[in-house]
Amino acid sequence: QGWFQHLKVPRRDTICEARLRCRADPNPDKIDLSLVTFRDDDNNAIVLESVREAKRQAQLADGAHEIQSLAGHPGFVQRAIELAYGADAACIREGRVAAVQTVSGTAACRLFAQFQFRHYRYRQIHMPRPTWFNHLKIWEHLRIQRSDYRYYGGRTRDVNWAGFTQDLERMSAGEIVLLQPCAHNPTGCDLDLAQWQEAAEIMLEGRLFPFFDCAYQGLASGDLDNDAQGIRAFEQSGHEMAVAQSFAANTTLWGERPGCLSFVCSTAKEAEAVQTSLEVMARSLWSSPPAYGARIVHTLLSDPDLRQQWEAEVKGMTETLQQRRQALVQGLMDASEETWQSWALHGSPHQMQDSEDDAPSRLDCEAALNQRGMFSMIGLNPKQVAILHKEHSIYPTRNGRIALGGITPSNLQKAPHSLLSKML
Ligand code: PMP
Repeated sequence: QGWFQHLKVPRRDTICEARLRCRADPNPDKIDLSLVTFRDDDNNAIVLESVREAKRQAQLADGAHEIQSLAGHPGFVQRAIELAYGADAACIREGRVAAVQTVSGTAACRLFAQFQFRHYRYRQIHMPRPTWFNHLKIWEHLRIQRSDYRYYGGRTRDVNWAGFTQDLERMSAGEIVLLQPCAHNPTGCDLDLAQWQEAAEIMLEGRLFPFFDCAYQGLASGDLDNDAQGIRAFEQSGHEMAVAQSFAANTTLWGERPGCLSFVCSTAKEAEAVQTSLEVMARSLWSSPPAYGARIVHTLLSDPDLRQQWEAEVKGMTETLQQRRQALVQGLMDASEETWQSWALHGSPHQMQDSEDDAPSRLDCEAALNQRGMFSMIGLNPKQVAILHKEHSIYPTRNGRIALGGITPSNLQKAPHSLLSKML
């Protein structure tokens, strides 16, 4: 008889579930495709050279372990908002941005959700279908209702633009819409600039509040400014908005947890009230955010030479991701007719409610070449994923998401010629 006898073991999310299964698998040739980190050719998590150098400099500059203020590292926060909105953005010049350092992107989302719960009377959030699994949980824990808007087109392997805009138009004034500005997780499908501008207009007219979750800036196009074009289009069109930023993937500082949550307000006075509210809430969550990662990112973004080197390395990572996507898709395209038929035996590809997925085809796979960022959705359904886990020791997540960070040459070699065909 214990205090916790009523407690049932909860179901883990799809990402943790795949990772744990992979860890428990004794097969030495197993392949983890649930990863969030980026592996090099030998399957080790990479550290960028610019980050190594910033680390050296940040440690030399300040070896003490003084606690940070509630808002975190002020220089880091300043650099973070400049990266999101643009260094010369009107909202920054006019002092209309409230911002605090957070414990990476997850806690930036959580702090926003908490702000919504505490200070916002609409207890609802609209999310893309599908979205990062943790989005569902973060808002669910605060008992904020979620409704999904159409986003992924399924068979087209692209955004369902018509469905997305129709859903935006149907929303009610005052509601909050979660958007991913680049390298959409899990689909890899993004809007282009003209689409962002149109979405900004629809949302301005409908009085909808945008919340951007920016976890992969730079890793969609290889260009940090380009990947912020959605955020900047909204800012320039006069939106008030919030942005969560993770620096985990684009700096490879996954474990150090640098992150930021910022709000663009209509006046400096409102920004001051939001700023203090965020600090009051952060006080009871983590009091002061971790210093080490923020110091490194501050150095990285402030030193012109390091910054240039970092930008080149981000571009390099993006190119590698695209090469891996190409290898994945090419392998599928080259698979035999027999392999394609065995795919069909296991059912049609991942059937999104609003997609027109019916039968798989080589053409659908080719369309996946247009996807961007760390992930690929080629149309695996949960049954096919279960077969990959059980019979082939290959571990994408249950929703069919493949982490390109794990499609390394050594992994490809482990399963010579067969990794890609086994996936079918
Ligand atoms: N949002 C999205 C869409 C993500 O994919 C991630 C990373 N998996 C995050 C936020 C935040 O992750 P982290 O807390 O590691 O920065």
